Amino acid sequence: MVVEQTLSLIKPDGVARGLVGEVIGRFERAGLKLKAMKMLHLTKQQAQKFYEVHQEKKFFDSLTDFMSSGPIVAMILEGQGAILKNRELMGDTDYQKAAPGTIRADFARDIEANIVHGSDAPDTAEKEINFFFNELERI
Ligand code: UDP
Repeated sequence: MVVEQTLSLIKPDGVARGLVGEVIGRFERAGLKLKAMKMLHLTKQQAQKFYEVHQEKKFFDSLTDFMSSGPIVAMILEGQGAILKNRELMGDTDYQKAAPGTIRADFARDIEANIVHGSDAPDTAEKEINFFFNELERI
């Protein structure tokens, strides 16, 4: 398996509920290495840009309100098969369909406020990492 980097976000609900340490602990215990990390508060416009692929969806306005409602934690995670590994740790978008023991199954109680974001493919991982981190901020 190739060593990959992926973009992970702890969404405003995860930060507000005090789940930052819990979520990062799960990543580290699964062998994903933290390569960059920061806390920031997106504007509505920045959230719209980040989620532009969803702009035609009916949940877009609500989602971007939510994503700009409070601070988030952004991270670059690295490891063998990191993109899929992170998605497995997160669980299904819909917490009701997420496998037991995943972050969303354990903590999310809403399809929108579902604790974490993770890139879903190598091209989106590169794009999303570049959205949040410049060269100086990466190890
Ligand atoms: N989302 C939502 N309603 C839906 C589907 C998605 O509010 O019916 C939100 C949810 O926060 C999700 C995000 O939009 O995490 C992005 O959706 P995507 O399908 O890309 O899911 P993800 O990659 O986050 O699992």
